[in-house]
Amino acid sequence: MNQNDFSQRIIQWQREYGRKTLPWQQDKNLYKTWISEVMLQQTQVATVIPYFIKFMRSFPTITYLANAPLDEVLHHWTGLGYYARARNLHKAAQFIRDHFQGEFPQEFQQLLDLPGIGRSTAGAILSLTLSKNFAILDGNVKRVLTRHQAIEGWTGEKQIENKLWALAEKVTPEKNTDIFNQAMMDMGAMLCTRSNPKCGECPISNDCLALKQNTVKMYPTPKAKKKIPVKHAFMLILSQKMQNRRIIQLKQRPPVGIWGGLWCFSEFESLELCQQTLDTDGIENYQQTLLPMFRHTFSHFHFDISPVLIEVEHFGNVQGVEESNTLWYDLQHPQKIGLAAATKKILSTVDKIKNKG
Ligand code: SF4
Repeated sequence: MNQNDFSQRIIQWQREYGRKTLPWQQDKNLYKTWISEVMLQQTQVATVIPYFIKFMRSFPTITYLANAPLDEVLHHWTGLGYYARARNLHKAAQFIRDHFQGEFPQEFQQLLDLPGIGRSTAGAILSLTLSKNFAILDGNVKRVLTRHQAIEGWTGEKQIENKLWALAEKVTPEKNTDIFNQAMMDMGAMLCTRSNPKCGECPISNDCLALKQNTVKMYPTPKAKKKIPVKHAFMLILSQKMQNRRIIQLKQRPPVGIWGGLWCFSEFESLELCQQTLDTDGIENYQQTLLPMFRHTFSHFHFDISPVLIEVEHFGNVQGVEESNTLWYDLQHPQKIGLAAATKKILSTVDKIKNKG
């Protein structure tokens, strides 16, 4: 492969067909690129756009972000998933406020020291904004490179990853690094897609080994499948009336672990344990409805959730109902808090049944 020719063809393609009108590409700065790159880490561009616009409106600078309560940042992340990203953004913003006077740092190593920024994200931020000469290796780039060079092996394996980094550095040109890196990301998202890649429109198809060998679908090599375990829990949804509206109790989870810092419901292994808690807390005269079970899948386990809706007129001063980590969520006037994905789903089910019919 002639690397110069390879990068020139890609740059040329970018000039003609690449994306240039994304919100974070307008009046570029390091802060905007950082937020967009973190949002894009596990999420597609079309989903990210409205989140990015809203986030920027609420937190227009690093200092705004650093000074905002974490709950408000998590609220803006609700629905994007992988909430550790939002917690890291907040932590990093506070670090930048306290150690760099609120100015985003410009040295590669300084970026790597910030929570949530790895080698590829640091390279993307500095190359896309300042055209500094750093290679990137996100999921899209990995797909293009493994196919073009027919590189076998799971890309999460250290040896394969090192090989891909070496290749990425070799093909990344010193000049126009920003255009080239944007092109590699766009090609991975627009042409060299997971299924049905548009090889006929690809600027590097003439020397793509996977295409030549008719093995495009084999790359990147998937991770050997492990059967992931299934967990099950009953979630207790306490609801009472307030001025003719139903409000619902939420509890904030501890800051670390699954759905860390987000608002959720109490979990129980069995319906009996659920009911025992209601008895212990002195909750009586309630109406109980078992809502349909649904599955939420994490990377390492499936979580089957059975929501149990408990409705009373008014809880009064029932023990265990009012604690410091609880709040009453108003479906008609929702508070700005970070909701776990399962919470969001359950709240919308309850809203449909109770308020909208
Ligand atoms: S020719 Fe097809 S498989 Fe090869 S890099 Fe281009 S889009 Fe991907």
